[in-house]
Amino acid sequence: MPRILLVEDESAIADTVLYALREEGLDPLHCLTAGEALAAAAAKPFDLAILDVGLPDLGGFALCRQLRARVDLPVIFLTARQDEADRVLGFELGADDYVAKPFSPRELVARVRAVLRRTRPGGEAATPAQAANGFEHDPGGMRVRFRGRLLDLTRYEYGLLAALLARPGAVLTRAQLMDRVWGDALETGDRTIDTHVKTLRAKLHAVAPDADPIRTHRGLGYSIDAG
Ligand code: CA
Repeated sequence: MPRILLVEDESAIADTVLYALREEGLDPLHCLTAGEALAAAAAKPFDLAILDVGLPDLGGFALCRQLRARVDLPVIFLTARQDEADRVLGFELGADDYVAKPFSPRELVARVRAVLRRTRPGGEAATPAQAANGFEHDPGGMRVRFRGRLLDLTRYEYGLLAALLARPGAVLTRAQLMDRVWGDALETGDRTIDTHVKTLRAKLHAVAPDADPIRTHRGLGYSIDAG
């Protein structure tokens, strides 16, 4: 049974999340503070952590760094603001995913399942996205393999690919990609994204000339094939 560390200082939110996780056969432990969480993580191993960004003692970002200094732990953040979400998906933290408040417990549990599938070797079966479209994403190492070959990606190419792989089949608008990948960088504009998608496609094409998994949705944005 996968063990989940939940760190959330609002009890009402924590209670609904705990209920939803247990319903799904997961084994959650709830901590109200970062201090409690560090003690819990030192005492026994966890398969994944759900961290509220706004904690009373140590912020969720700092807690993430301290937890990961000891073990390579997949992390999903609970965020309350868009700028927090941008940092979560940025390169500073390399989080596996985030869920913005207010969220449905069901959605959070689905994200937890997806991250566990990606990160637990030999655990649950590989996701269709990984197995079927040939990608293996290592968020901790910020590496992506395509059809077994490690891709040599720039920071922004990696960010784009990671954002698309996080939601296979879903269309991400240029604005969403800009938020997630570029954050508050000064280099902005639709052309920036299009240029990086083009170089990313060329690198995928170099590995597999028959493959073009990134779809352009005219006037909307981009998606990556789900399988
Ligand atoms: Ca909070």
